Amino acid sequence: MTIEEMIAAVQRELGVQVDGRAGPETWGAIHRRLVKPTATGGPPPAAPAIDAVDPRSEGHIATLLPEVQPLARALVQKAAQHDIRIRVISGTRSYAEQDALYAQGRTAPGSKVTNARGGHSNHNFGIAFDIGVFEGNKYRGESVKYKAVGALGMELGLEWGGNWKTIVDEPHFQLRPAWAAGLAERDLLAELRARTAAGRQLLA
Ligand SMILES: [Zn+2]
Repeated sequence: MTIEEMIAAVQRELGVQVDGRAGPETWGAIHRRLVKPTATGGPPPAAPAIDAVDPRSEGHIATLLPEVQPLARALVQKAAQHDIRIRVISGTRSYAEQDALYAQGRTAPGSKVTNARGGHSNHNFGIAFDIGVFEGNKYRGESVKYKAVGALGMELGLEWGGNWKTIVDEPHFQLRPAWAAGLAERDLLAELRARTAAGRQLLA
């Protein structure tokens, strides 16, 4: 049995989404099941919420799908426990915002910042966010700490852009929908666009 199969079996037992990745939802359910409240006779404990992080990060986290928000918060907290200060510096962009970025260095002034038009970036669907490493209050665009944060993100079940083969993107994290396991990025994006156009759930 692989570790993913073990996690999936535990998730089935707990009645949470079965995706073989133990993120905050799974750990919340395990906590609820195993960690008994100290007072007796009260109602069953609610799922423990993950504390909010800094306001700048929270502003971007608010643009993410509800399932992704606790993962982003957990990543900021886990990094802090390893003495790495990160902030979420980018979240969801509308198709129009993405098109404006795409125009930079093409039909608009500036240098190119993206190869993705509207609807062609994972940032258009609420599943992706970028982090920045900070030392004191200073933003560090380049730091070995991005690799350490990448490992922490993968522990949470996030996909890390630092593992990508074509464009390595160390600040980037995303939650890959369970239905997209093994799917090429292009096919994942096509399905996300179709679901968005049809008003369907993106992660279910
Ligand atoms: Zn990104």
